[in-house]
Formats: sequence, structure tokens, C-alpha cells
Amino acid sequence: MAKEHKGNFEYQIKTHPRAKRVTMRVNAPEGLVIVVPKGFSKDKIAEIIEEKRSWIEKALYRVLPASSREDISGPRENFFSPAFGRNLELDRNDARGSLRLLAVENITPLAWKISGETGLRPEKFTIKNQKSVWGSCSTKNNINLNQKLLFLEPWLVRYVILHELCHLRHRNHSAGFWNFLAELDPRCLSHRKEIKEAQRKVPHWAY
Ligand SMILES: [Zn+2]
Repeated sequence: MAKEHKGNFEYQIKTHPRAKRVTMRVNAPEGLVIVVPKGFSKDKIAEIIEEKRSWIEKALYRVLPASSREDISGPRENFFSPAFGRNLELDRNDARGSLRLLAVENITPLAWKISGETGLRPEKFTIKNQKSVWGSCSTKNNINLNQKLLFLEPWLVRYVILHELCHLRHRNHSAGFWNFLAELDPRCLSHRKEIKEAQRKVPHWAY
């Protein structure tokens, strides 16, 4: 996707066939993304950016320090994992591959432990390097967990695991789902809010 400049901001435009109006999002891997309905005239973008300028500036400010934290020489030999409260060793030549292994060694057993505590049992947990989700639950009861959870705090990792486990009972995000999740994680709504901002905690080299 080509990046475009207008009104000082670098951004991407994505067309969404079901979008009813223009929406914007800002996150670490993508920067500013403007989602427009099909057939939307791109001439109007500059105006919209002007209107939302202060929101965009704030959102970029929150995200950009994380990208500038990136070590230009790439990952170091180890990194601190808040999720597990210790340094984990990394193979610099295959950073993403070794993140996957570390997640298999650390996150998968944790997920099974939480599964055991709750009695909610998936077919399997698979660690993936997902781009935009922290976890997902398939109709075959397979739960995928994002290896970048290694960079988040333990309560957020737990939240994501519990969230996906609850999808074994409720396939949607209905009130029933949230009530069920709240029984297991009483702070789930605040965790849900926190996780939306969590991508900025992940270093660029991990993507
Ligand atoms: Zn969900």
C-alpha cells in the first residue's frame, strides 16, 4: 500500500466495501490509516485531515516514540519480556523465528494452565505472528495467539487468553460473551481498552 503525504501527515488510504463513513486509526506498524467507503472521493481527504488534525497529532505522538525507540541496528541478543518478568534470549539472525519459539515455550504452557483453571479447553493453541490481532479462535476450537504478546504485561496476556477461551462458549462479542468473560476477568473492560493501545509496546523489529 503506497503511502501518501498531505497536510504534513504520511498516511495510507484503505477502501472498505462495507464502510459507511470515513474512519481513522493510528498504530505502530501502519502509522495513520484512513478507511474510506467504496467510491469515496479522495479529494475530500485533506479536508478531513484538517478537521481531525489535533486527534491525529495526539495519536501519532503516542505511537511515534515507540517507533523511534527502535534500535536501528535491529534487535539485541536479549530483550525484557514484561509478560514473564525477565530477559529472554534472542537469535538476532532470525528475530521473528526466535520470538515464535520463545512464545511456544512460555505463552503456550501459560495458556494451557489458564485453560485448566477455567475448564475451557480448545483443541490446541498455536503461536502465530499475526499482524493486527492478539489472538483468535476458530470454529474448530483452535486458538491462535500472537507471539508479540511477549512484549505485553502479564495481565494483558492473561486477558487475551481468557478472551479467546470465552469464544469457545460464545462465538461473538454479545453481552453474554462479556458477562462470561467478566466472571473470569472482572477488569476485562479496562483490559480491553488497554490492549487497543498495546501495539506501541512492540518494537518494530518484531513485526
Ligand atoms: Zn473476541
